[in-house]
Amino acid sequence: MELIATRNKGAEDILPSQTYIWQTVEDIARSTAATYAFEELRFPTFEKTELFERSVGETTDVVQKEMWTVMGRKSTYTLRPEGTAGAIRAVIQNGLLNDAMPRKLYYLISCFRHENVQKGRLWEFHQFGAEMIGSASPAADAEVIDFAHTLLDRLGLGDTRLCINSIGCPECRRKYYEVLKEYLTPCRDKLCETCQSRFDKNPMRIIDCKVPGDKELVKDAPVITDYLCDECREHFETVKSLLDNMGLEYTVDPKIVRGLDYYTRTVFEFVSDSIGAQGTICGGGRYDRLIDELCGTSVPALGFAMGLERVILAMKEASFDFGEKPCTDIYIGSMGDAGQQLAMKLAKAVREDGYRAECDMCARSVKAQLKYADKTGAKYCLIIGDNEVESKTGSLKNLRTGSQTQIALDDTFADSFLSVEMADSIAFEEEL
Ligand code: ATP
Ligand code: MG
Repeated sequence: MELIATRNKGAEDILPSQTYIWQTVEDIARSTAATYAFEELRFPTFEKTELFERSVGETTDVVQKEMWTVMGRKSTYTLRPEGTAGAIRAVIQNGLLNDAMPRKLYYLISCFRHENVQKGRLWEFHQFGAEMIGSASPAADAEVIDFAHTLLDRLGLGDTRLCINSIGCPECRRKYYEVLKEYLTPCRDKLCETCQSRFDKNPMRIIDCKVPGDKELVKDAPVITDYLCDECREHFETVKSLLDNMGLEYTVDPKIVRGLDYYTRTVFEFVSDSIGAQGTICGGGRYDRLIDELCGTSVPALGFAMGLERVILAMKEASFDFGEKPCTDIYIGSMGDAGQQLAMKLAKAVREDGYRAECDMCARSVKAQLKYADKTGAKYCLIIGDNEVESKTGSLKNLRTGSQTQIALDDTFADSFLSVEMADSIAFEEEL
């Protein structure tokens, strides 16, 4: 029989042995977002294709090469390759631009890009993203960069390198494009095909090209930071001094232009040196023209997105302490119908206190049930047979220490279990 249960090469299954790691990262992301007063936004996995074409930009790799696009009955839709376009579409459509500004939002999403699959580069991947909408002030840039840094720090990645740049406004870029084109004209024919087509429309994209030959050709090309207008230069200087003030270390890298067209002024990346070639774990920047482009109202905004697969790779590389995978607190096994009924009632009672409780679901022998409790790492075990039902008492075994406690199997059971468990935990901690 042909095996149809095979996984696509660019998408990953995340199994229970790993999901607790993801949950740890997501919990830290959510709680950090809360301390910066960002609220969660959820929005659809797909949007009309033109939303990404208009916002991400027609000359970008993402739009030109990487989109997963499907035909609906009337329109063409694309699985989101990133979060900003959909988030901003949702903000506009739901009237959030009328809220008190700045509006601060975050999201935990899956994204889709058709790329060459490698370590840290997948077709389906996950992002934590944040957007601050409605402030043009350099303080917003510094706060958003500080938010990303704090989150990385809480994930044990505080030493990830921060690189920043300013790519100015359309006015600065007009001047810059002229000199860049002049510089590139003699080698125009040697550029990759995509970059030749970008030459007239968006030459700065060539600086971001990943093709090795092109990288070599732009190595000594003029840089945008030398062509910033007075206002953009002042904005960038203020961002830098605010970062200095917060004690954030960074380097200015004039080669960072970012892969998406909607960026203006400040752009930044956090780069890890420990996870191989795909080292950029977070990218972001200001996009003051995007909202105007989508709805005709000019509202400044900025944000960042962190690639969670790369974050987790880096955390593992840094030996982050994810703690132990949570396991069952108490296994309540049974023999016979009366035993099973009582076991299920008692399990329900301890679950009310938040304990993880399991009973036999397979009508197995006591030996097989004990084996299951042991295999799944249960902390306590109790087996209820006819004798236990009759006497309304049982023997609660601590599977870590082997110690046994007689326990009443009545309405006091949950309370008694709680005190035994707490006393054992305190004793265990004192031993450490
Ligand atoms: P790269 O330079 O690695 O292609 P990018 O500039 O295309 O990154 P962004 O659009 O800024 O990436 O997305 C933000 C983050 O999402 C990246 O820094 C990275 O951590 C992650 N990311 C992007 N594409 C992928 C992918 N195909 N697989 C896994 N993670 C990704
Ligand atoms: Mg990319």
